[in-house]
Amino acid sequence: MDNCIFCKIVRGEIPSRKVYEDEHVFAFHDINPLRPVHVLVIPKRHIESLAHASEADAPVLGRLLAVANKIAVDQGSPEGFRVIINTGRIGQQEVPHLHAHIVGGDAPVGPML
Ligand code: 5GP
Ligand code: ZN
Repeated sequence: MDNCIFCKIVRGEIPSRKVYEDEHVFAFHDINPLRPVHVLVIPKRHIESLAHASEADAPVLGRLLAVANKIAVDQGSPEGFRVIINTGRIGQQEVPHLHAHIVGGDAPVGPML
């Protein structure tokens, strides 16, 4: 997707603070962190939202969750974290490229996400 900001981040056209990358997913610090740890994990291939994913996307959806614990521990949230996938208008999704928020850190994670 030419004009998608997260696709541009994957391509390196918009800078980001990368924390992890593999064949399927790319992870980077949220530009506006809500907690000490706030990382976004996205599929490298453009999928608009979880509502747009299909059975064929199962491997990449699996990677999205499989890397969450590693990222949370690496980033300093070993005792727990949240994984949040806002989906669609009602789900308050603002960026139309599927992404999982990994939120944690020392402070207890509050209710705003
Ligand atoms: P959503 O509400 O769509 O679930 O969350 C989108 C997230 O993307 C927000 O937390 C926002 O701070 C983050 N974000 C938006 N644009 C950028 C950007 O250009 N770079 C980074 N690193 N994060 C972004
Ligand atoms: Zn995209």
